Amino acid sequence: MNNLFDISDKVIVVTGAAGVLAGGTAKYLLEQGAHVVFLDLHQNKIDSVLDEMKTVSDKLSGYACNVLDQAALDSVYHQIMQDCGRVDVLINGAGGNMPGATIGPEQDITDLNIEDYSKVLDLNLKGSVLPTMTFVKAFIQQRKGCIVNFSSMASPQALTRVLGYSNAKAGVDNLTRWMATELALKYGDGIRVNAVAPGFFVSNQNRALLINDDGSYTERGNQVINKTPFRRFGESHEVFGTIHYLISDAASFVTGTVVPIDGGFSSFTGV
Ligand code: NAD
Repeated sequence: MNNLFDISDKVIVVTGAAGVLAGGTAKYLLEQGAHVVFLDLHQNKIDSVLDEMKTVSDKLSGYACNVLDQAALDSVYHQIMQDCGRVDVLINGAGGNMPGATIGPEQDITDLNIEDYSKVLDLNLKGSVLPTMTFVKAFIQQRKGCIVNFSSMASPQALTRVLGYSNAKAGVDNLTRWMATELALKYGDGIRVNAVAPGFFVSNQNRALLINDDGSYTERGNQVINKTPFRRFGESHEVFGTIHYLISDAASFVTGTVVPIDGGFSSFTGV
């Protein structure tokens, strides 16, 4: 039997590819021999990522592309189809939170900034729908393709303070199941849609929330660790293997799933 995990012939588009988890995944996939297309918001970020990645492989390209801009997505799609002739995988990695969509420690729900709330919903949810609408055209032509969305442990249960992001990622879970069903019913078993749900990984966005300047955990950091059976935060490389599996032929009967990568956070009641 062929190596079910071989992804070296795939063309993989990654949005948010200058970021920590999505960018790390893109680099890992490049190392596995895939052709990786890096998409992120600003040209300067793309330029510096491509410069760094060229030392790994020359099977790469990259474009500045806002995942909320349908025209920009269409233009990048046509360019990739011209250059590579196909797209096999879309990884919807662009996402994140904003302070106004979160309730501060001294605030309550009446203080929510509804504009920031909407922006967070847009980035995480619409920012996964629009690239899907664009790149699925190749999957429909090929009758084969894979999508991996990024959910979060903010989705399945209430995480205090983080309203907009939690609502958005709950939408991403539903989108994953909805799109998996829609595409399979219309186009058969070659097109699969899944998501990963990382738990707590220390990033620039959440570092101050979880870790004090002296390296000790904040009160919230301790709350997270106490509900994580592994008693530690995740490290970015720990998402790569699950994504590799989901986009490979090893997962050919797997669609509509949201896979926790969380050190047991979602299994443990905390008691
Ligand atoms: P990150 O903040 O490091 O990177 C996000 C990237 O998305 C940035 O490079 C940013 O420029 C880009 N981006 C923002 N808006 C964009 C837009 N409109 N169009 C295109 N690109 C845009 O995030 P990350 O750690 O790589 O996270 C990847 C995904 O995983 C996100 O959806 C995030 O919500 C999710 N997630 C992250 C963690 C974590 O701890 N880092 C945990 C759970 C889920």
